[in-house]
Amino acid sequence: MRPFSLALITTMMMSGAALAETAEPAQEVPPIVAGAGAGETIGEHRFQLTFEPTQIDGMGLVRSKFQNEGIFQQVLDALADEIALPKDIPVVFRDCDLINAYWDPENSTLNMCWDLIAEYNHGYEQVSGEEKMFLAGANQGTVLTGTTLFILMHELGHGLVDLFRIPITGREENAVTVCVARGLFLQADGAGARSSVARIVCR
Ligand SMILES: [Zn+2]
Repeated sequence: MRPFSLALITTMMMSGAALAETAEPAQEVPPIVAGAGAGETIGEHRFQLTFEPTQIDGMGLVRSKFQNEGIFQQVLDALADEIALPKDIPVVFRDCDLINAYWDPENSTLNMCWDLIAEYNHGYEQVSGEEKMFLAGANQGTVLTGTTLFILMHELGHGLVDLFRIPITGREENAVTVCVARGLFLQADGAGARSSVARIVCR
């Protein structure tokens, strides 16, 4: 929303009748420009990844695993290399006391809750049917990392929509998921990983 000018507010306080005669004509609302929130230099600002300690049962080991694997840092670095973030963006794994992962637009921070990761890490034991067959042949550690990476990129999609003021014509949930899925699939190509990660930015 555009703020009222001080002159206009003063006029309104002094006289409603005068306002009718002296108010400025309505200004045109500027069009939404995709990418208007971008920074000036590609790669200048970075994602600041932090794995905070956790009090949740079993998550200490997962925290060590994630730190040692380094894949989250690699993906975030590759993405930051390709785009012009307007500022450094914290990405924080932490205890939240709620089962969630979310973009915080007030603080421009991505929160990944250990609570959520613990929830689906235990959930693998309860799946049935075809999913159980699939998981039986998969490395659970790899599945855990992959699931977490997908969620991280999905939430980051929300963050980039917010930061770059990207207009979404349908449901934002679908839009960011499609973008992330495309990015992750392309990343699997290996050689084109750097450029493909950039395609996560909805285009
Ligand atoms: Zn979402």
